[in-house]
Amino acid sequence: MLASIIDKVTQNVRLSADEAMTLVMEGDIHDLGRLALQVRRRRHGDKAFFVYNQHINYTNICQNACRFCAFSRRHGDKGAYVLSIDQVVREVQSRSSEPIRELHVVGGLNPDLPYTYYPSLVQAVKQARPEASVKAFTAVEVAFLAERGKMTPYQVLEDLRRAGLDALPGGGAEVFSPALRKQLCPEKISGEAWLNIHRIAHQAGIPSNATMLFGHVESWEDRISHLLALRNLQDQTGGFLCFIPLPYQPRNNALGAQGPDGLDIMRMMAVSRIFLDNIPHLKAYWVMTGVKTAQMALWYGADDMDGTVTEERIGHAAGAQSPKGLTRTKLVQAISQSGFAPVERDSRFRAVIC
Ligand code: SF4
Repeated sequence: MLASIIDKVTQNVRLSADEAMTLVMEGDIHDLGRLALQVRRRRHGDKAFFVYNQHINYTNICQNACRFCAFSRRHGDKGAYVLSIDQVVREVQSRSSEPIRELHVVGGLNPDLPYTYYPSLVQAVKQARPEASVKAFTAVEVAFLAERGKMTPYQVLEDLRRAGLDALPGGGAEVFSPALRKQLCPEKISGEAWLNIHRIAHQAGIPSNATMLFGHVESWEDRISHLLALRNLQDQTGGFLCFIPLPYQPRNNALGAQGPDGLDIMRMMAVSRIFLDNIPHLKAYWVMTGVKTAQMALWYGADDMDGTVTEERIGHAAGAQSPKGLTRTKLVQAISQSGFAPVERDSRFRAVIC
């Protein structure tokens, strides 16, 4: 059985969920790595992408209390903050001498902010940095905005797009299993609702990324079902640019799970690359994996290392040990030293000429 599954991957034939489970259970780390590298090379050769980007976390006040989250605060808590639009613009302008191509904007579900804050925020950052793509608001935030504005997600997305939104980030997917969501993030929108907002975005011509938070209390069955749901949606819309498996960070949160070890991260990367035959890119998000593990992941199917980031707050609140940002030189070095060819990209993974 394992031999025929390996043969299928080599022949570029799609695996069923059962076959992916068999590969995970019976294949060793070398089988997985070799196959994922084959698939990755078929798509991208030796290229490994990165982006010159800036993260903006406009507020950490959130009405939800996801058990794995160390970023969110309640109104009035020590460390709770919300940035005015002017403050965000100043943050963006403070880096105007750098060739930033992407602004990644996400925050908590802050009930104190009016609906109009969000399109105004997008418009303001776009005006401050017209040459950069604005990748803003997870599906969870879009659902929250729809509720606040008494609108449909489609209307919210259209408003945001008119304001300058270019793409949606992939956060908030966690693990789609309804039973696990009850345990991990009971107030969060369902996996089905998350998928539906991405479907609507794709149909409206807004591309997006997808994530999965792994290495806490989920099983491999949960992981493969999550990947299958993404693959099915991608078959219908083609709107996902990239999948990002996010290793759970164990500190300062209520869940108290351990987090995945290096081998588990490599297995997850490899299976994602092999199984998601219709999502072009696989990201090793160095902030959550650490730079050295992200370098290894390039050999286990990943073709992207995200970007310069600078001032990452979410993963670091939960104990991420990585630096808070990397220079372009450091990223290029990290990729080259891993044996791959660095390619700077924009939000849509188009190569940029520096
Ligand atoms: S993960 Fe997002 S929705 Fe959940 S508590 Fe943290 S900021 Fe709020």
